[in-house]
Amino acid sequence: MIELEAVSKLYRTGPIKVHALSAVDLTIDEGDFVAIMGPSGSGKSTMMNVLGCLDVPTSGKYMLNGIDVSKLRENRLAEIRNRQIGFVFQSFNLIARTSAARNVELPLIYAGVGRRSRRARARAALERVGLGDRQNHMPNELSGGQQQRVAIARALVTDPAMILADEPTGNLDSASTVEIMRLLVELNETGRTVVLITHENEVAGFAKRVIELRDGKIVRDVSNGVGSGVGGER
Ligand code: ADP
Ligand code: MG
Repeated sequence: MIELEAVSKLYRTGPIKVHALSAVDLTIDEGDFVAIMGPSGSGKSTMMNVLGCLDVPTSGKYMLNGIDVSKLRENRLAEIRNRQIGFVFQSFNLIARTSAARNVELPLIYAGVGRRSRRARARAALERVGLGDRQNHMPNELSGGQQQRVAIARALVTDPAMILADEPTGNLDSASTVEIMRLLVELNETGRTVVLITHENEVAGFAKRVIELRDGKIVRDVSNGVGSGVGGER
């Protein structure tokens, strides 16, 4: 599904060059659940932006479902993002003073889906994340964990093959964190590829595979052994 080949991202700020990603090779199969870890500044967000087609690499190749997306222009990238990828962020990014249902409908408005179908799909997505009874609540009338579930419903409503989450539990207490991670596990078990950034070991423990970045390079890539709790080096 995902294949990065010698992907580098170079940022230039005046005379200073930063290799945010340095010749990264990475394959992620359909249906995988990958946690990306690493210290601040190691390139996690840059990796997420590239994987999510929010940015293109300076060099190297990114094949997504058979298409080389590394050299596409913004309008084509936006199309791929809208069709294939659901995004979840640390700060939920819900629209204030707009109901849960309306927030979830937004990607369908962009996709030109008719009103009746939008309503039905938003309702079903909220039910899917356990918020069937919160359709008309405003974001500030919901707990942090509930707001993140609305954001996940919004990411799901277009039925994307892949969910990318940047520190989805970073603003949540431990009970809500477990709740959100269980939901992501469930979505993964029903066929979606999930890639998430986290700096918490407990959160990474829910993933099937853990990748660690340092200075723009992958320094560790381990499978979480099912049941044993012991990772094996790839
Ligand atoms: P992380 O998410 O792991 O903290 P980032 O991917 O945000 O790391 O950043 C990796 C490196 O790239 C850092 O050294 C950061 O300062 C630099 N960087 C990130 N974004 C930009 C940008 N837009 N312009 C210049 N440098 C950047
Ligand atoms: Mg970051």
